[in-house]
Amino acid sequence: MNDEILSLEPSRLWHYFNEICKIPRPSKKEARIAAYLRNFAVSHQLPCYLDETGNVLIRKAASAGFENRKTVILQSHMDMVCEKNAETVHDFENDPILTRIEGNWVKARGTTLGADDGIGIAATLAILESDTIEHGPIEALFTMDEETGLTGAFGLKPDLLKGRILINLDSEDEGQLFIGCAGGKDTVATLPLETEEIPANHKPYKISLTGLRGGHSGDDINKGLGNAVKLLNRFLWNAKEQFEIAIADINAGNLRNAIAREAFAVITVHSDQEKDFLAYALKYESEIKSEYRITEPALSFKTEPATMPGSVLVDSLQTDLLDALYACPHGVIAMSREIPDFVETSTNLASVKFMDKKIVITTSQRSSVETAKKDVGDMVASTFYMINADVEQSQGYPGWKPDPDSAILRLTADAYLRLFQQEPQILAIHAGLECGLVGAIYPGMDMVSFGPTIKGAHSPDERLDIDSTVKFWKLTLEVLKNIPIV
Ligand SMILES: [Zn+2]
Repeated sequence: MNDEILSLEPSRLWHYFNEICKIPRPSKKEARIAAYLRNFAVSHQLPCYLDETGNVLIRKAASAGFENRKTVILQSHMDMVCEKNAETVHDFENDPILTRIEGNWVKARGTTLGADDGIGIAATLAILESDTIEHGPIEALFTMDEETGLTGAFGLKPDLLKGRILINLDSEDEGQLFIGCAGGKDTVATLPLETEEIPANHKPYKISLTGLRGGHSGDDINKGLGNAVKLLNRFLWNAKEQFEIAIADINAGNLRNAIAREAFAVITVHSDQEKDFLAYALKYESEIKSEYRITEPALSFKTEPATMPGSVLVDSLQTDLLDALYACPHGVIAMSREIPDFVETSTNLASVKFMDKKIVITTSQRSSVETAKKDVGDMVASTFYMINADVEQSQGYPGWKPDPDSAILRLTADAYLRLFQQEPQILAIHAGLECGLVGAIYPGMDMVSFGPTIKGAHSPDERLDIDSTVKFWKLTLEVLKNIPIV
């Protein structure tokens, strides 16, 4: 049924990609792909280990003449994101991924393709089975649950891998070599929701801030986007300076790893001040529309009459909350001193929710430098300690600090130039990669990440560029051939 891709070159790579497409492999349900890898190892007489977390490691000795080379780890992840179009009938736990070719792209039929990271697995298997490819000792590491928790990388034991050079095959832009990523953590503040009766002569209003673009709290944090939590709070803070208002409800932002796109509040205003309050709301709307006219053209700010709420926050809590949200940092905290235009450290004020008996404020921090990640997390925490909130911080996951002098980076960049007469781009990303965890468990591991071009990853539009897959394959082989002597 997937025969189309079997006519592509390099044929063994596409053979294995096709095999992997047949195996359901949602995150945290990797038993079948793990069993397939184990059977592969057995039938090729390669030693294979399944660690207690569920990661698979296959070892292969060097090809003739390459016995004295350093060991290289080829790393990819077994799971895939399972997304489909509403009209597509597909059971990700049982059905194979159906592929098709469209121009220079391999695509699925209404589902994610799983080239992220099936193509990394396929390339590795094609290398492991070959008796003509030149390489030193190889450790092929297949991790579980990269997509929803980095569970496999978290669970690596420090004695599993012998090699100290790692090539991560999970990047999505051919021609780019990745040498760093951000670690992350969450900081969550909680306050008791103390309420009182609505003050006399107050009228209720609903404030709605919508139409922002949102975006990924790492990749998009430096794009000048509006934060709905911040913009709503700025309005309320200034309103409280000028008018007698009381806050009944705030529901702002949503996911911890997304920039807040929408924010809503219900407040009451003294009836003598309604006219001035509404005039202030209009003025505020025009101010923020002007500030964000380039990055947030669809921004909408509305103030409209609401039904009377049951209660409002006690006054001291309102002041504390608005002050702390105003003081809480959001956005880029530091740019990298090693890589031009790379965000090193950032924080995202993600959401504010009034629950049954408490107010929950969720934030997340990222940095490629561990100490800077702790620093920005503590900066956010102390904003909320000042109003006596309870603050909890997650352990988080470590970043991968870019090392422009890395030996495997130099070797890979030279190989790329030799093969394609072009310099690769050298980059780091302000989001998580498994390399961050590997580096924390194996200090001194020399790492680089590259892959073919994949567009629309994590969506049914996921597609794999065929020409870039050929280049990815050639680069991988050229790097293996040139790994230095021990
Ligand atoms: Zn991936």
